[in-house]
Amino acid sequence: MEVEILNSNSLQKSLGETCIVCDEEKELGIHLYTSFICRDCEKEMTNTPTSDPKYQYYLDKLRRVKNSPLYS
Ligand SMILES: [Zn+2]
Repeated sequence: MEVEILNSNSLQKSLGETCIVCDEEKELGIHLYTSFICRDCEKEMTNTPTSDPKYQYYLDKLRRVKNSPLYS
């Protein structure tokens, strides 16, 4: 997998969890069901008005979580 990290910063990652929204490993965040949402994405979501198309994108991500086989 070749991924070019364009805006990598100096933040050193230790053991984090993979955010379901941005698919990055983050240490800080919240848990939703069995999934993890990093603080950045959580903040983004809270700041995104429901009328914003981006909000739908987040909802889709969350729906994916709720549709987890674990809960079917
Ligand atoms: Zn995230």
